[in-house]
Amino acid sequence: MFWKRNSSTTCCGALLSLLNCAGGNGLSMIVTEREPGEICFEMQSRAVSWRDEDVFRAQIPSLAISINLKTSIRVKCCPWCGHSLRALVKQTPDYYRALARQHAPFDKG
Ligand SMILES: [Zn+2]
Repeated sequence: MFWKRNSSTTCCGALLSLLNCAGGNGLSMIVTEREPGEICFEMQSRAVSWRDEDVFRAQIPSLAISINLKTSIRVKCCPWCGHSLRALVKQTPDYYRALARQHAPFDKG
């Protein structure tokens, strides 16, 4: 394993780092719960942070090109160590449910 487990809630430091970047510009991992009890993970890339998105949109109303402000892809295993993300949720469901509530605004739009 390239990244070592450093927490009782994540499989490795790389995943923990990406979870901590949720909502910021650049690459992150967000946790979603679109259906009750269905906790999922999505790798997300943002051109601008969630906090700055409205400011950015207000400054470019006449821009004649399309810009992808964010893109997400669902993942089932940790991209770094390969650990099953479903298994992580089973170990600490309350932690991931709380993260899903915290990350919900980053999943909109
Ligand atoms: Zn991992």
